[in-house]
Order: sequence, then structure tokens, then C-alpha cells
Amino acid sequence: MARYTGPVCRLCRREGIKLYLKGDRCYSEKCAIDRRSYPPGQKGFARKKITEYGLQLREKQRARRIYGVLERQFRRYFEMAERQKGVTGENLLRLLERRLDNVVYRLGFARSRPEARQLVRHGHFTVNGRRVNIPSYLVRVGDEIAVSEKSREIPLFKEIAETIAQKTPPPWLEVDAERMRGRVAGIPAREDIDVPIQEHLIVELYSR
Ligand code: SF4
Repeated sequence: MARYTGPVCRLCRREGIKLYLKGDRCYSEKCAIDRRSYPPGQKGFARKKITEYGLQLREKQRARRIYGVLERQFRRYFEMAERQKGVTGENLLRLLERRLDNVVYRLGFARSRPEARQLVRHGHFTVNGRRVNIPSYLVRVGDEIAVSEKSREIPLFKEIAETIAQKTPPPWLEVDAERMRGRVAGIPAREDIDVPIQEHLIVELYSR
């Protein structure tokens, strides 16, 4: 399964915001964007006039990088969002939020989306009692996501279990920290999706 394997802090610097791709490091003084808040590359300091197209492109790239989705798959999500009823941009964000790796992260079972993705790939989670190792799996209302029985004994999950109660999941998810499981209580409303994305710019980009 294809994924970006380059330096991730570079992505934050390119987007000019924290994308929280490295877990605890993102909250420490080691965060690259706190230390070098200019774009990467030799021309990082140069100020360029950004066109309308550039703005739209940046927004799409930012969304892709937050959720860790490659171009082709992102385009597929957009096409699915277009076919759904309602506002296409909001539909797109809802689809991205429903990815299993994102849900694992939102529930607090991983410290970043890339970590969630890896944990899902390694088969540490079940959905409705069945092991699912596909990060892009789209959860549905009523689905129950749990850390598998065996995986709960792993030191990483023991560590995560201690901090999970301090986190508040979004309103569309319910978490049972003690039993290391969560439930999809509803479809996320736009105001429950706290990503710095202006989705209408992505719709404009793909409508060109
Ligand atoms: Fe981004 Fe985290 Fe790296 Fe900071 S430490 S630049 S938030 S990935």
C-alpha cells in the first residue's frame, strides 16, 4: 500500500502549520515548525505572490497531508463526496474522518495519524469483533472499534491506556478507556471536524 515515506516535518513547514504527524514530539520544543517556521528548501525565505490556483492547490495538499492520503485516493474520495447528497466539501471531510486510522487517532488509541495507520496495518484493531488491518476502511454509525485482546498487553497500549482518559473524543465518537474500545455514535458534523481546511477551495480546484 503506497504511502509518503519522506521527512514529515518538512510537510508541516511547507503547509506553514502543525500537522501533528509525530505524536509527542509535536508538543515539545523539538517541533521543527517552532524552530524553523519558514518553508523548506533554498528559497524558503523568499516571499512569492500566491495565485488563486496556488491557494486551492495548497488547501488540497494540506488536507491530503493531514489525513495521510495520496493523490489518487484523495481524488476518489472527492468523487464519492460529489455523488453524495449535501455539500461536497463537507462530504469529503466526513469521508476522510471516517477512515479507520483517523478514528483510531481520534479515539486516542494512537498519538498521531501516521502511528494509527501503522497500528492498524499491524492488525492491532478489530471492528465489530473482526480484525481489520486496512487504514482506509470506512467506519459506519454503530461500529465498535477495539484494541484486540492480545494487543492490550503490549507496553505501547498500556502506556496509551494510561493517558486515554485525559483525552476527549469528538462528539460523534464514544470511548470506553477501561475496555480499550470505542463506538461510532454518529456522522461527524462539520463543526466537529477540527482541521484547518477551507474545503470549498478543494472543490473549486477539482471543478476547474
Ligand atoms: Fe509537524 Fe510534529 Fe514535526 Fe512539529 S514535530 S513539524 S507538528 S510533524
